[in-house]
Amino acid sequence: MKLPTILISTLSLLFTFSAGQLYADDQTQAAAAPVEHEEHGAHEHGTAKLSLSVGETGLEIMLDSPAVNLVGFEHMPDTDEDKQKLDDLVEKLEGGDELFNVNPEAECELKDTEVLSGLLGDDIGNAEAGTETAPTTAEPQNSDAHNDVDVTWAYACNKPAELKEVAVKLFSAFPEGFQRINAEWVTDKGASAVELGQDDTIKLTP
Ligand SMILES: [Zn+2]
Repeated sequence: MKLPTILISTLSLLFTFSAGQLYADDQTQAAAAPVEHEEHGAHEHGTAKLSLSVGETGLEIMLDSPAVNLVGFEHMPDTDEDKQKLDDLVEKLEGGDELFNVNPEAECELKDTEVLSGLLGDDIGNAEAGTETAPTTAEPQNSDAHNDVDVTWAYACNKPAELKEVAVKLFSAFPEGFQRINAEWVTDKGASAVELGQDDTIKLTP
């Protein structure tokens, strides 16, 4: 599915507007919330960015999503229930084959999954090297922050030239999570972008 650029722009504006309103509500409740880091761009609940990159040896898929889409919350886990949900999430994400299907002719195999999140103790929101969160205070530093989850799936493919399609099943895998996923892909033959509103197959052809 491909929308005309002008329509995508209009939709983006609409979503930005409504997300801005939600955000304002959030911030009245949590006035001390740290400002979202600019380099991460807009953090809109219900949306995510998906990037597919085809190289000489395989396929890399990257998801950049607000944590709430995947685990239902963004505060630091402070109960056993929250921690269990995070453990379950990591396990689910590592089962990448249930989230994506690559066309079989390319003979791809999921080799590695990396899951990074402030909720897992990773410092992904801070680009300054050498800055560490001091674990000195009893209260979690990021308790009111908006946290992301960044996932990278690395597929090794015997026939990467045969990579034609990737079916994305994130909407059904996280039925409460996504309203919209902005997907972009790049191969040595071209690049394009598509906005997904449901599970769909991305065709990696110009
Ligand atoms: Zn958030």
